[in-house]
Amino acid sequence: MEIIPKRSTVKAPTDRFTGDAWFDVLAEGVPPSRIRVNLVRFAPGARNAWHAHAVGQTLHVTAGVGRVQARGGDVLEIRAGDTIVTPPGEWHWHGAAPDHFMTHLAMWEAPAEGPESEWGDLVTDEEYGR
Ligand code: MN
Repeated sequence: MEIIPKRSTVKAPTDRFTGDAWFDVLAEGVPPSRIRVNLVRFAPGARNAWHAHAVGQTLHVTAGVGRVQARGGDVLEIRAGDTIVTPPGEWHWHGAAPDHFMTHLAMWEAPAEGPESEWGDLVTDEEYGR
């Protein structure tokens, strides 16, 4: 057993996020574990860029109100208690609603080989639904 002391909160990088978002790395498995868990806090209006996860991702909203969209789909509202599952390779983004903070757990796995996620363009205000 290992108790890992709390790590510093990290500001989400501006090339992959619009607005203010901060994350805490909660779990980063050592092989053969490939688990990844981040707690992500989005300020109102903040969202990540279009991206896809090699092995998919599960999000669980722990507080607030947010938005999520899969490529080609509608912008959907998500609320505390909701769980969102994105399949492997599905392009999507997630973030806070315009007038609410949103916090979610982001859970995914690293693939056996290759990058965990692929990142694309930032989500425009038009796509976000301002
Ligand atoms: Mn994602």
